[in-house]
Amino acid sequence: MSKLEGKVALVTGAAAGIGRASALALAREGAAVCVSDINSEGAQATARRIIDEGGRAISVTCDVTRVEDVSALVEATVDAFGGLDAAVNNAGISGYFFQRLHEADDEMFERVLDVNLRGVWRCMKAELNQMLPGGGAIVNIASVAGLIGAPKAADYTASKHAVIGITKSAALDYAKSGIRVNAVCPAYIDTAMVQGAIQGNPAMASIMTRAIPMGRLGQPEEIAEAVVWLCSDAASFVTGHALVLDGGLAAM
Ligand code: NAP
Repeated sequence: MSKLEGKVALVTGAAAGIGRASALALAREGAAVCVSDINSEGAQATARRIIDEGGRAISVTCDVTRVEDVSALVEATVDAFGGLDAAVNNAGISGYFFQRLHEADDEMFERVLDVNLRGVWRCMKAELNQMLPGGGAIVNIASVAGLIGAPKAADYTASKHAVIGITKSAALDYAKSGIRVNAVCPAYIDTAMVQGAIQGNPAMASIMTRAIPMGRLGQPEEIAEAVVWLCSDAASFVTGHALVLDGGLAAM
């Protein structure tokens, strides 16, 4: 029996990277998946791949900074598949990178908070309204930068610390309502976000791999495994947890 047979899931930022890998993995475990992203073509491509593999999916264009998009995303999921059991709030941006706080751009700080923090807030509100009173599982994609400091990334670090805070508070608020809320905390996963950082500063490639005790970048599929587990009944007693997936980085 697949882990998510008969369940309905949505994933934000699922055109690429960790979001795409999570959408594919959820579908392979039997979930019907609403694939959403600000990038419509990318979301469609992920949904098409799920369908080509024999799964069930729709795609929805959703910018998580727009509350009307987020409401429409949850509505479209319920219209297509009859409910919402699991939500993966993954859409995120990297922020200014490579600048200390006094040099950093205020507009970028606002943008990072709007996508990474307020985006999760907007999505959680819509998802929780749908999941109550039946129950469900929410997984927020945070970062090891939500647990420890990251040099020259104060905006991103602030947003991800806040995502873990929201996750823990919501876990307490809904613990008796059958809704589990968890976060995953990856470090240096080989996606467009990390490749963009390497393009901006080629030295980053070796800085990142040296920072990770395992000596390599993570793969999006390694994060997706944890996402599937947290969405599934196998994690039925897990809530308010921030699961670290970082090749040992935060253990140092
Ligand atoms: P990615 O490859 O850049 O994919 C992120 C996806 O989100 C892209 O398709 C992007 O579209 C989309 N997106 C951006 N802004 C959006 C918005 N306002 N609304 C909806 N979708 C939006 O990034 P990733 O590395 O997979 O990161 C996914 C999540 O994991 C993020 O929350 C990130 O902070 C977190 N994370 C990543 C790493 C890592 O090392 N990669 C480590 C820790 C945590 P566009 O490309 O069109 O902008």
